[in-house]
Amino acid sequence: MNSKQLEGLNMRCSVCGNAIGNSDDFCPNCGALFEEGVHCSRHSTEKALGVCIICCKPYCATCGVWSGGLFTCGEHHGYEVLEGMARVFGGSDNAQVEYTKNCLEQNGLHPFVFSRKASPISLGGPDYSLFNASGEFDGHIINEYKLMVPCQEVMRAEQVLRKLGLVEAQRTG
Ligand SMILES: [Zn+2]
Ligand SMILES: [Zn+2]
Ligand SMILES: [Zn+2]
Repeated sequence: MNSKQLEGLNMRCSVCGNAIGNSDDFCPNCGALFEEGVHCSRHSTEKALGVCIICCKPYCATCGVWSGGLFTCGEHHGYEVLEGMARVFGGSDNAQVEYTKNCLEQNGLHPFVFSRKASPISLGGPDYSLFNASGEFDGHIINEYKLMVPCQEVMRAEQVLRKLGLVEAQRTG
């Protein structure tokens, strides 16, 4: 019997405060590593500093980085992340974003569309960071619809987007 136990719900990540499961060896929300003795997936002799929230592999201080309370590998640095969801697509054309969302859903993913107007975070909480994170949006694209997926689905989502020809030239720098 391996049913989930209620007390597991009370466990929280010591880094971000996110609720975590009993069996989690890292926090999927921020990438904090709870296990001792985990090594970098690229350098078998280096101690891992955290787990990339996008590709879920452990990395050392050379390969990964803590930035804004989130751990990512160098390759996956720079996504807009909010509450465990990462932006994979966006635009001011709601129909296109909704279409893309449907395509992701058909592939078994769990996308969610944030828009500045509809999103509860626009009500003015301290977590307004989603729309402040990227300096590129402070001005002309005010009502961007952001297509977010759980961080662990980003790589699969981007495969789907690539097939659709919708991969953006994003994450510069
Ligand atoms: Zn955490
Ligand atoms: Zn990664
Ligand atoms: Zn490394």
